[in-house]
Amino acid sequence: MRIAILSRNPKLYSTRRLKEAGEQRGHTVDIIDTMHCYMDITSSNPSVRYNGKKLPKYDAVIPRIGASVSFYGTSVVRQFEMMGTYSINESVAISRSRDKLRSLQLLSRKGIGLPRTGFAHHPDKVDDVIKNVGGAPVVIKLLEGTQGIGVVLAETQKTAEAIIEAFMGLNASILVQEYIKEAGGSDIRCFVVGGKVIAAMKRQAAPGEFRSNLHRGGSASLVRLSPAERKTAVDAARTLGLNCCGVDILRSNNGPVVMEVNSSPGLEGIEAATNKDVAGMIIEFIEGSAKPNNTRTKGK
Ligand code: ADP
Ligand code: GLU
Repeated sequence: MRIAILSRNPKLYSTRRLKEAGEQRGHTVDIIDTMHCYMDITSSNPSVRYNGKKLPKYDAVIPRIGASVSFYGTSVVRQFEMMGTYSINESVAISRSRDKLRSLQLLSRKGIGLPRTGFAHHPDKVDDVIKNVGGAPVVIKLLEGTQGIGVVLAETQKTAEAIIEAFMGLNASILVQEYIKEAGGSDIRCFVVGGKVIAAMKRQAAPGEFRSNLHRGGSASLVRLSPAERKTAVDAARTLGLNCCGVDILRSNNGPVVMEVNSSPGLEGIEAATNKDVAGMIIEFIEGSAKPNNTRTKGK
């Protein structure tokens, strides 16, 4: 097969591993910088151009699209879909998962466990937003944050109000969430490919920190998932329509709750923690699914 990895940086661990895994399995793999692709969207014969040339017909694309380039990145993926190229994650599903609120609304509709969460932009009654999710301590998140930046733990009602007011002053939309204290500063990253959890790790926050992001100094280790956790991760991936994603779960007293679903999950942490060939499993899934026009929405 001929596979394109849509990535801004060929040197990133995940990009390199996917290329290597594809080539090891006998495929031709090109790395294409999403932001350098351009296209004529009015042509009846859709194509993507790159570096002055029309790109060849790929059997599959693997979008590795960072949050900061979601808007343009997903339109490039949509163009590939319109050409009949299979994308491991569809453009619509990527957009859906990029919007934290939209994701949580869809997950909640399907009855998937979530922390009690409120969403606000400019509430007149800040105290009520906090009371609604059970009162302090609460976690307050900027809607656009990634890698744990813009995620704050407010231990008291007063601090929570002050933080929400500060974010309101910045004209930002926020999530206010029940603090899952019993998770003890750890979360579980479930790596889902093709409707199965193929690898999982536990991330533990550094001492004195409640955010377990590896970028925030968290450390990763192997973990055994309960059947309920496995089911939660698979259901979340299916609800958002993602074939390949990282589902982050907190172990709460009420069972597993989903914190977020990432459509471009990193491979480095999970391959190191589990010693599994996650990149190889992604390519293997593509081999079984990359039929022309095999996307649910075709970008619609
Ligand atoms: P980001 O998308 O920026 O990584 P997250 O929502 O995943 O932000 O939050 C970052 C980290 O903060 C999580 O990995 C988790 O360890 C911690 N965290 C987030 N929300 C909660 C919560 N409601 N209760 C307890 N810990 C939380
Ligand atoms: N094509 C639809 C849209 O983008 C899908 C809706 C959805 O995300 O469920 O609005």
